[in-house]
Amino acid sequence: MNHLATERPLSAPAFDVAGIRAQFPILERQVHGRPLIYFDNAATSQTPLAVIDTFRDYFCRYNANIHRGLHTLADEATAAYEATRETVRNFLNAADRREIVFTRGTTEAINLVANSWGRANLKAGDEVLVSLLEHHSNIVPWQLLAAQLGIKVRVIPVDERGVLDLDAYRALFTERTRLVAVNHVSNAFGTINPVREMATIAHEHGALILVDGAQAVPHQRVDVRAIEADFYAFSGHKVYGPTGAGALYARAELLEAMPPWQGGGEMIKSVSFDVPTTFADIPHKFEAGTPAIAEVIALGVALDWVRGVGLERIGAWEATLLERATMAVSRIDGLRILGTAPDKAGVLSFVVDGAHSQDIALLIDQLGVAIRTGNHCAQPLLAHFGVTATCRASFAAYNTLEEVDAFVDALERVIGMVR
Ligand code: PLP
Repeated sequence: MNHLATERPLSAPAFDVAGIRAQFPILERQVHGRPLIYFDNAATSQTPLAVIDTFRDYFCRYNANIHRGLHTLADEATAAYEATRETVRNFLNAADRREIVFTRGTTEAINLVANSWGRANLKAGDEVLVSLLEHHSNIVPWQLLAAQLGIKVRVIPVDERGVLDLDAYRALFTERTRLVAVNHVSNAFGTINPVREMATIAHEHGALILVDGAQAVPHQRVDVRAIEADFYAFSGHKVYGPTGAGALYARAELLEAMPPWQGGGEMIKSVSFDVPTTFADIPHKFEAGTPAIAEVIALGVALDWVRGVGLERIGAWEATLLERATMAVSRIDGLRILGTAPDKAGVLSFVVDGAHSQDIALLIDQLGVAIRTGNHCAQPLLAHFGVTATCRASFAAYNTLEEVDAFVDALERVIGMVR
């Protein structure tokens, strides 16, 4: 039994969590005969009816390829797809919708920057700074370039709380530093990084900054101009939208100067065997082939949904969930939380003495609780902390304080079984 339940009332900032839950049909399901408690939101969040209905509407009414049709369905699909570009622009407060490139998600967005901007601007000996907190998506594309171009990947260290060491960050800059690639929020530990300050420091040294916003956009308002991001990437499926659609923000002048990455339909102006092929204007220069049309349209609906609930309110609610969960699990004998930054998003990563993380996740699933275990695609970070896996509970707008208490009870039961 966790003790918090009796000490603290089940109250929190006024937030209509019941009204929100009612919009997520999946939350009604049972898992192994118990109500689902879904705490794997950092991997993928669930989708509200508004997003689900978008697919039905699209495929029932206006499924067509975009940009190239002269018929009504193609026009409607194109308009809805391009309207999402404006939604994303507005969501990130970008200056111009041409600065929004649709991608499959964060991974593809970062690979686009590495392969287009990186290959055009980096040469042997140039340096890219990445942090120890990065997801493999923001490490491996730079390592591939290191192997192919001879650039150096240098690592910004963290302290014992999982907070980036800004003095060490400053000290890493040399005249060869060209780019800083850092996440806004760590998926493994939940640390919120001071990307605004990091951008200023990068720019003072003449370097650009790419911010991986996969774990930030679901929890806080992001203003790419205020944080002075040169590149900003995120995925739809972590912000109540579908898989297969995400976006890259890049300042227009950078995109203008970057060569295309993938070639194909849609990204050209003219193609010839006799004179050089010419390319479409931005952002279409970077959107080769038929995109995930329905998914992109649904992504726009998801972002509208999030804005409708209010990111500040979602962030405050998740902070309440995190605080309750953190206090309760801290009392469990032998449980160690990894990632204790003062500024954290709703991610609780932990290991338990004498209990394998995988066993905990498998057994707690039998009690209806979905958490993630493993290296969270952050092997260097976990290795630094001397572990190969953690259990991770991560929260979203539809989670409740009662679910937190039920999770803690289930965790205590499971630990008792495996020890
Ligand atoms: N970056 C971070 C911080 C993430 O949490 C994730 C996914 O977990 C990614 C990048 C990769 O996102 P995707 O798999 O949607 O491309």
